[in-house]
Amino acid sequence: MSSSSTPLLLHACCGPCSLEPVHLLREEGFEPTILWSNPNIQPAAEHDLRLATLLTWADQVDLPVIVGSCDRTAWEKSAALAGFNREQRCRACYALRLAELCHVAKERGFTHVSTTLVVSPYQLFDVCHDVLERLTVAQGLTMVWRDFRPWYSEATVHSRELGMYRQNYCGCRFSAAEATVERHERRDERRREKLAKRRTTMEAEHVIR
Ligand code: SF4
Repeated sequence: MSSSSTPLLLHACCGPCSLEPVHLLREEGFEPTILWSNPNIQPAAEHDLRLATLLTWADQVDLPVIVGSCDRTAWEKSAALAGFNREQRCRACYALRLAELCHVAKERGFTHVSTTLVVSPYQLFDVCHDVLERLTVAQGLTMVWRDFRPWYSEATVHSRELGMYRQNYCGCRFSAAEATVERHERRDERRREKLAKRRTTMEAEHVIR
């Protein structure tokens, strides 16, 4: 790492989502340190698996990791209260995790902060921006905000190549339920399309005979 690089505390939601931001931020001249604080991830075994995945990779790429607080009670008292109101729930969830990012940054002398949350197109980009902006302004920190979403497919391919564990829901129990419903809806849609195609073929064959 160059002596002129700028230290940056990077909140990471998981290993796969950290790949491209770390690479791109390093290319820009930042020296990222990961901050892990994700009390939203349920169940606890899933949380531990995602953390272990991140730590294994971080060790391979010489990336320091700070494990911050995991206040599950605070998450239940804020984000969980919004239930299936996605925007309200995610706003509270981002606020909790990114407040810990800013807290640790101040405590450890970082001036620049960012988050890997914005790699995934499934996250609420503008809500996340709003939350981090408010927190950094209040704490006198510099928000390094980048739109990492165009690198989501690279992250998907790269994490598969590395054999990383890849989850299929954001993290909380609500997101697990929402993801299951969405998968079923997509499957039903595919079935409907298949049936419609078959019906069209049968009708065409009937006309020809
Ligand atoms: S969907 Fe993701 S960001 Fe939103 S509350 Fe659940 S874990 Fe947090």
